Amino acid sequence: MPAEALKCKECSTTYPLDARYVCERCFGPLEVAYRAQTSSADELKRRIQAGPDTLWRYADFLPVERVPRSSLPTGLTPLVRADRLAERLGLGELWIKNETANPTHSFKDRVVSIALARAIELGFDTIACASTGNLAGAVAAHSAYAGLPAYVFIPADLEPEKILSAGAYGAHIVGIRGNYDAVNRLCTEVSGEREGWAFVNVNVRPYYAEGSKTLAYETAEQLGWELPDRVVAPIASGSLFTKVARGFQDFIDVGLVEGGAPIMNGAQATGCSPVAQAFAAGTDVCRPVKPDTIAKSLAIGNPADGPYAVELARRTGGAVDAVTDDEIRAGIRLLAETTGIFTETAGGVTAATLAKLAERGDIGPDERVVAYITGDGLKTLDAVAGSVEVTEIEPRFEDFEANVAVPA
Ligand SMILES: [Zn+2]
Repeated sequence: MPAEALKCKECSTTYPLDARYVCERCFGPLEVAYRAQTSSADELKRRIQAGPDTLWRYADFLPVERVPRSSLPTGLTPLVRADRLAERLGLGELWIKNETANPTHSFKDRVVSIALARAIELGFDTIACASTGNLAGAVAAHSAYAGLPAYVFIPADLEPEKILSAGAYGAHIVGIRGNYDAVNRLCTEVSGEREGWAFVNVNVRPYYAEGSKTLAYETAEQLGWELPDRVVAPIASGSLFTKVARGFQDFIDVGLVEGGAPIMNGAQATGCSPVAQAFAAGTDVCRPVKPDTIAKSLAIGNPADGPYAVELARRTGGAVDAVTDDEIRAGIRLLAETTGIFTETAGGVTAATLAKLAERGDIGPDERVVAYITGDGLKTLDAVAGSVEVTEIEPRFEDFEANVAVPA
């Protein structure tokens, strides 16, 4: 397989490719390290283009021994040119990566695809997760396809759409009376005690995190093997944000694309913005916060990859911004009205941050910008409840004429 070892991000100690996630020496997080590519860029491109119409076409860059014989098809989501939104914001070339097109309508299908495949290779027989919502649905669906029992641990006050859809796939749902950070702590404890349980974002987290790289691979391929100048993406744990940058760097390193790494802009909700606060304060230290925002899928008060996200934004000349709940609702509306894509609150955070960057003049007129819209608006309907006006009439033509028809 292309992966070589698990490696500590802090002290570089290496470990075998098994189910572990923390360095025994320094307690730093582990990530997957790869062998140097021996194939030429042309060979790699040929293999990608001849591969399946899913994220498994990028198997040369993923940490599994073999591509699963069958799996819930994930990835190759549309990259949508957003001219009307660009015009509204005074931008040049703008693209939306529409992750609502995945099987459970969020980017989490990607990370679960990789984690599940590796968990099966490592001999696990039960799949579990600590979730802010979208992950629960993805774990439930992919486990259902694979025929494995699933346990999803969520904050009990999660949006009903996310709880019900995860339940529909037959997962055991454990609602915790506490926030995500409490859920995550409990899952860490359970994962140490339950042999045979793979918690996708705990004990097999290094493999899980690699799934987000495919967002960058696809973007580059869909842009005709070119890079964006700037990326706008949401930050919860910081994993997606940092792995998207890694994905672009992978393609640069092997010569599949030319040019410099994109500027990285992170998006958070003001009600849970430990990474944006660290960026603003000029430090890498993300002080934990108690989340209070409608963007529940981003509500991680103690983000594991926060310091790496801050460092990445700073190094690439980007930033990490935060937007209020009202701005999030406006962002959802703005995106829907100009692109036909209805996103959940996390996507509202991304759209609102994009608008803020445009307004501040951070984005040059010739820049090619890609914004990652990570989840579906049908999962957070409460956030937009009351914002739509219905013209109710009797079923009579006169009523229609009197109340609906626009005067000439
Ligand atoms: Zn270490």
